[in-house]
Amino acid sequence: MPELPEVETVRRGLAPVLEGRRIARAIQLRANLRYMLPDRFAERLTGRRVERLERRAKYILAHLEGGEVLLIHLGMSGRFIIHAGDADPKRPGRFHYEAADAGTQTHDHIVFDMEDGTRIVYSDHRRFGFMDLIAENMLEANPHLAALGPEPLGNEFSAEVLGERLKGRRAPIKAALLDQRTVAGLGNIYVCEALFRSGISPAREAGRIGAARVEKLARAIRDVLTEAIEAGGSTLRDYARTDGELGYFQHSFATYDREGEACSKPRCGGTVKRTVQSGRSTFYCPSCQR
Ligand code: ZN
Repeated sequence: MPELPEVETVRRGLAPVLEGRRIARAIQLRANLRYMLPDRFAERLTGRRVERLERRAKYILAHLEGGEVLLIHLGMSGRFIIHAGDADPKRPGRFHYEAADAGTQTHDHIVFDMEDGTRIVYSDHRRFGFMDLIAENMLEANPHLAALGPEPLGNEFSAEVLGERLKGRRAPIKAALLDQRTVAGLGNIYVCEALFRSGISPAREAGRIGAARVEKLARAIRDVLTEAIEAGGSTLRDYARTDGELGYFQHSFATYDREGEACSKPRCGGTVKRTVQSGRSTFYCPSCQR
């Protein structure tokens, strides 16, 4: 499942082909993804210029000329494939989609043909992703976005803000961080990594972590996300050289999915354990995470 760094990587990959460009034609190959697509979805996108591409938590927001925003969530398996211009021999022909719809298995659901000839295809085999069109002035009130906490890489996030949001919370810190109202966009993997890096036990009561450790945690959250985005950036360049696909990268994690391995912290000597908290796997080192 794409987490914040993957979504940011996809946003960065799409920005050069979408920002400032006009959608000459949008094609919608089905009525729904995870939810029904909005009424006249393709028609409303056709002819519109994308002014800028932003990310909020795990949502990509394409601000369109005329005051609407295309909201995109990649779900579990959503991805974009960019077919750039005349140079790409794999650029599908005019009847590709009609033919595919008539029987062949396809997971391509939405197509944006840009004015400059670039074709951007949204494909999602599990269809947990979704798209919506929202009036720009209603964005903050949108149910997907309204309750989100501060953006962890934004200026509004700091150790003080995190401490404020953890104050009085009886839940384990792992659960408190997965709660999108605490910090926006943190998923299971990066919560495990940030707790490992800051030496905090995932079971520790959220409201009982001292200020110095909260400060370490806030820094670890920023660092693990930033490093993953940087790693994704290099993967993205590799992809661009081959098939133009903006995918998810296999970043190497210090604790996530490393059950039974030696703790990577110098002089710790502990072993990574796996436990289950609210139905999700937690990986942690019981020796150095307290
Ligand atoms: Zn350790």
